[in-house]
Amino acid sequence: MTDSTKELQEFRAEVSAWMKENKPADPGFLLPQTFMEVGSEEQLDFLLKWQRKVYDAGYLGMSWPVKYGGREMPVAYQRIADKEMLVHRVPIMFNVIGLGWAGPLILKMGSDEEKHRYLKGILTGEDIWCQGFSEPDHGSDLGNSQTTAVRDGDEYIINGTKIWTTFGNYAKYMILLARTNPDAERKYAGLSYFLSPMEVPGVKAVPIQKITGEYGFTETFFDNARIPADCLMGEEGQGWGIAMQTLQFERSAEGGQASEYFAERVTMDDLMKSAKTIMRDGEPLLNDPVVRDNLVTFMMEEKALKLSTVRAGIPALCSDYPLSLALSGKLRASELFRRMRQYAVAIQGAKGGLYVGDADAVEGGFWQRAYFNSFSATIGGGTSQIQANIIGEHVLGLPKS
Ligand SMILES: Cc1cc2nc3c(=O)[nH]c(=O)nc-3n(C[C@H](O)[C@H](O)[C@H](O)COP(=O)(O)OP(=O)(O)OC[C@H]3O[C@@H](n4cnc5c(N)ncnc54)[C@H](O)[C@@H]3O)c2cc1C
Repeated sequence: MTDSTKELQEFRAEVSAWMKENKPADPGFLLPQTFMEVGSEEQLDFLLKWQRKVYDAGYLGMSWPVKYGGREMPVAYQRIADKEMLVHRVPIMFNVIGLGWAGPLILKMGSDEEKHRYLKGILTGEDIWCQGFSEPDHGSDLGNSQTTAVRDGDEYIINGTKIWTTFGNYAKYMILLARTNPDAERKYAGLSYFLSPMEVPGVKAVPIQKITGEYGFTETFFDNARIPADCLMGEEGQGWGIAMQTLQFERSAEGGQASEYFAERVTMDDLMKSAKTIMRDGEPLLNDPVVRDNLVTFMMEEKALKLSTVRAGIPALCSDYPLSLALSGKLRASELFRRMRQYAVAIQGAKGGLYVGDADAVEGGFWQRAYFNSFSATIGGGTSQIQANIIGEHVLGLPKS
């Protein structure tokens, strides 16, 4: 199938009609704004059914090979499906660690057996994945991870603690970074990478509550947990390289995701609507010249972000610093979204202090919740400071601090 403009246009119309027809009714409970806030069985059950429905309709994993559950179509089709999901404000695709990073990783580096075993379950949502990288004392400092994996016959014995494990209490599998050689001369060389089952004795995931009162991640304890030796991906000692490849997918620096519709859409249009309805001194706030000036600045930044994404796909426009757009995308987007939500709360004046559940909260406390949740993206997958370091070192060629 070619991706001619006419075919893409027809496809867009098809997806749009499907989304309109099939968008689920409001379930009557709060849905998560991003995949990092799935904290109850009812949310999970709802999102599982929805992801399955979208997959069955053919709008998920569209560019993945047919033999692993995909449709082998040009990635442009998946982008259109994602865009239509955003536009129609349907619930998010929840199984993100599988769809967005473990899946593409297995497709790129996994054996044929691993691809057959894992990929389809990711798309259908039957196999939920989580990521065991961060540890209580080793987040940014990931290379110093201390969780150990000791080979014992046909098994590895895992001991240690991971933290901030999104989906830790729901997942069937974990992409796990663990130390197989504590004596390696270079700390990175002692690390290995596992596609590890979660439903084995000795694994315990304890939910952690967030500033919003919601849940979504866990502290995950491994106490002599035995996993099959064939869960090792690649060879012992290759874990760091595979983890870095995983982060390329996680930070959207590389494509291959089964979908990128992982978060509810919040745009400048929403902020404009707010500024039109909030009244100050008998007038809509939007009439205030200072507010207008700030809104225009945000609009320009939002537009620049969109255009940068397009530009990143045109090599001739990226020749000065070829890696700059790919490596800075997460930093630019997550910080803009955080500042935009913060501003939306600030313009509410005294009501900015009210939260979801308060009858007087503006728009039901939507912006407050969105603001608190926006920190997830500025921390998860590498903090903004770490992203700035990466740009300094890998794009600008500055010395390591
Ligand atoms: C919502 C959410 C979901 C997450 N999900 C997962 C998950 O599923 N799996 C997983 O493994 N992890 C997950 N994480 C963890 C995340 O990757 C870490 O929180 C992150 O890498 C930072 O590590 P840390 O929390 O240990 O903070 P630290 O590394 O202790 O950092 C503390 C502060 O110091 C700064 N800092 C640290 N080192 C430097 C440096 N070299 N230069 C400049 N500043 C520095 C940081 O920017 C930060 O401000 C999640 C986090 C969040 C918030």
